[in-house]
Amino acid sequence: MPLPCRQWWRRTERWHIVSMSDAPLVAHSLAEVYLYILATPCGSCGRGPLSGEEAEPCDDQAVGFTVAVTAKCGSCQSVALLKFKLPGPPQAVSADQAAVVNLTNEPSRMLDIAQWLTLFRMKTEAAGEELNKTAARRLSLEAAQCLDEALKFYEEDNDLPTKDAFFHDGSRERFRDHPEQFSRQRLLHLRSKLPTRWLMRPGGG
Ligand SMILES: [Zn+2]
Repeated sequence: MPLPCRQWWRRTERWHIVSMSDAPLVAHSLAEVYLYILATPCGSCGRGPLSGEEAEPCDDQAVGFTVAVTAKCGSCQSVALLKFKLPGPPQAVSADQAAVVNLTNEPSRMLDIAQWLTLFRMKTEAAGEELNKTAARRLSLEAAQCLDEALKFYEEDNDLPTKDAFFHDGSRERFRDHPEQFSRQRLLHLRSKLPTRWLMRPGGG
């Protein structure tokens, strides 16, 4: 089995690599990759948060575009090397814009609906605490995109998500205990109060 991320192996071999899956996770964008890292507990201690270093392209780009991200746990300091397959090379984003998470209608394959709702809450709280207006607007745009991702797990005529919207036992438990949090009407109402990226371009409103 060839090692597609050789330079990363070299760089991380002095650390304890806590998880190294052979198959990269399929992401829609680099923004989704970093949201995944933010919402994923440490594979070693079960806590976190994980913080990701800059993504590095892997050597083997035969199929798709694959990047490796070193993620370090803020609790136990373990280091994980994570690999992600992207649709193409990441696009540059200006400082006042939120990076696009997923322009397709396909729901995320890495983060489930409960994780998107948690990310929405985190980004909304961060926006509320941010004093810099530009940064606060970017966080609101990120929060809006997290809700958009959650809303992709519903069928048109159903107020509650389908079974395959949940990837983890913890998420299913949350749905069982608090189904009201997953009401599509509720999410649509929250979404209506948030900005839409395309209206926030400089000079565009
Ligand atoms: Zn840890």
